[in-house]
Amino acid sequence: MADSLQPQSRERMQKVRIVLVNTSHPGNIGGVARAMKNMGMSSLYLVEPKEYPADKAVWRASNAVDVLDGAIVVNSLDEAIADCGLVVGTSARDRRIPWPMLTPRQCGERAWGEAESHDVALVFGREDRGLTNEELQKCHYHVHIPSNPDYSSLNLGAAVQVLAYEMRLAALEAEQGGAALQYNDWDQPPVKAEALEHYFNHLQQTLEKVGFLEPDNPRQTMTRLRRLYSRVRMDEMEMNILRGVLTAMQNYIYYTDKKLEGGDSKE
Ligand code: SAH
Repeated sequence: MADSLQPQSRERMQKVRIVLVNTSHPGNIGGVARAMKNMGMSSLYLVEPKEYPADKAVWRASNAVDVLDGAIVVNSLDEAIADCGLVVGTSARDRRIPWPMLTPRQCGERAWGEAESHDVALVFGREDRGLTNEELQKCHYHVHIPSNPDYSSLNLGAAVQVLAYEMRLAALEAEQGGAALQYNDWDQPPVKAEALEHYFNHLQQTLEKVGFLEPDNPRQTMTRLRRLYSRVRMDEMEMNILRGVLTAMQNYIYYTDKKLEGGDSKE
């Protein structure tokens, strides 16, 4: 298998971004830049890095400073993934509510296949605490790198290296005629993360309004609904329909309330 990628594959690789959330050590950011460039990736998003720009990042990046120079610093994970149609989160340990999982290999194949049609984000957490549950719940899939259960957490740069390597492997295999996964040859584009967040806000508001969700005691309902939608992978048309349903319900409630008020005032 040749190591170099064809130009269109190199271009597609840029549609898969690495997102680092709240990284503490700038050296790790440099290490990630290097790991990415080694595998032909260059799109790097930094969500509120603790210390950045920093000399330590430049030293560790070695000849990958161009990846650092191109890094986009943002204030929230939502911003970093807003235009992505597939979002994959990484976790060194099991979480309370299990999520659809991919192996690193499946992650490479899926991300590569989907990047043909839309942007993809691979999200990595903090050195000390990983990603929060809330952050993980914004992801369609989770990836766990199978490691020693007694010592499961890899260094951030090493974890990025594994997934970046799998991306390259998937790209090289696709060029060799392997059957890369497509986005199902669907008739509509997948809903993007930002629109999905709007939908969840709309859904939550409506469920609170009709009394299904108690704002003071929401329990895990929204989490479970998020997981449901992650499994479904809605397209834009489907989401527009659901937004329309919520709006119609809200209008109905509004006008019913109004009528009641009108009725009361006549008495
Ligand atoms: N102590 C943290 C580990 C953080 S390691 C925790 O318990 O969650 C920093 C980041 O590297 C993680 O957030 C994740 O993005 C990545 N990472 C480390 N080990 C990993 C593994 N075995 N599988 C997937 N991602 C891993």
